[in-house]
Amino acid sequence: MYTLVYSINQDKSPETVYVNLTNACTNSCVFCLREQKDDVCGAEMWHDDNYTLEDVIEQFKTFPSAKEVVFCGYGEPFLKKDMMKSFCKYLRQNHPEIKIRVNTNGHANAIYKTNVAEEFKGLIDSASISLNSSNAKQYDEICNPKIENAYDEVKKFIKACVEAGISVSASVVTGFDEREIDVAECEEIAKSLGAKFRNREFITNGY
Ligand code: SF4
Repeated sequence: MYTLVYSINQDKSPETVYVNLTNACTNSCVFCLREQKDDVCGAEMWHDDNYTLEDVIEQFKTFPSAKEVVFCGYGEPFLKKDMMKSFCKYLRQNHPEIKIRVNTNGHANAIYKTNVAEEFKGLIDSASISLNSSNAKQYDEICNPKIENAYDEVKKFIKACVEAGISVSASVVTGFDEREIDVAECEEIAKSLGAKFRNREFITNGY
């Protein structure tokens, strides 16, 4: 069975575990780790989405020390929205003490043409949403989005998550090439949307 749940260190009792629901994504970011390597700490990340909720739960149970679950992996988690929701419900019912976060490209509302943030109200505690730039032109150069008006959609999604009571960090990645990111402007935009801000320095190996 391929990797659906993994940790990013060699600790046998990690407090944070990551969930790799899909390899599909509506971006193709220039810094995407999937372009550089096939595994995270030895965990093979490529798969064909051919699995069940029980498979996810089974792998999750191999990490009994988990205090936080992060939907992340080699793809956009919300593209497996129903699976994600089912696993969130399982966690809320069976492990209510566990915090749930999603790392997302922020395209979900645009993809499904509905308020996905509202659907996940109470099911996820926090979201890290990739803002990636202070303007649409640079966002498109960095992320190569497959949806229309992606940058505006990301900003709208940040606001929708904030309004759904989800704790949101809007993030940028700096240091991956010579590109200048206006970090101060990005922070201003994040704050104007009600989100916190995180500047994530690019790490070659991803962790
Ligand atoms: S949004 Fe994430 S998974 Fe998708 S291409 Fe960008 S870095 Fe990779």
